[in-house]
Amino acid sequence: MAKLPILTYPHAVLAAKAQPVGEITPELSALITDMIQTMYESDGVGLAAPQVGHSIRLITIDETGPKERKSPMVVINPEFVECTGKKESEESCLSLPTFTCKVKRAENVTVKGRNEKGEDIEIKAEGLLAIILQHEMDHLEGKTLVDHASRLKRTMYETKIKKWKD
Ligand SMILES: [Zn+2]
Repeated sequence: MAKLPILTYPHAVLAAKAQPVGEITPELSALITDMIQTMYESDGVGLAAPQVGHSIRLITIDETGPKERKSPMVVINPEFVECTGKKESEESCLSLPTFTCKVKRAENVTVKGRNEKGEDIEIKAEGLLAIILQHEMDHLEGKTLVDHASRLKRTMYETKIKKWKD
């Protein structure tokens, strides 16, 4: 197991639409294990493969967080089956250090995909889990929180991260 480096905005991989995953190879299983560890050690509740440099449709989630580690979840090729209700959530992202943003989300989502064994799964989610699923699935479309922010907020953040690099 290894903790992987997390790419930060504006890395090009974060803006790319991720490719579907085919068969579950030993390499993919190893990546899944590393992603779960990386998620926990970075204090995250979710991670998408593009955030660690793999432009593929794979996400890991644990809504109980790095302290409890009670419900690690892997979804390969996730797709929305149904989204209902509306909810505003304040979110942050491991790829956007110091950035937070209010995002309009669905309140309840049903997502289908495959788990780490390649079995078909369907997840009915509400509350925090529903929000995390939508956040991570945004990453697979090449979308991050800055795409939900106002132009001004985005420009201010871009100015801030340019200063870090100098
Ligand atoms: Zn994120």
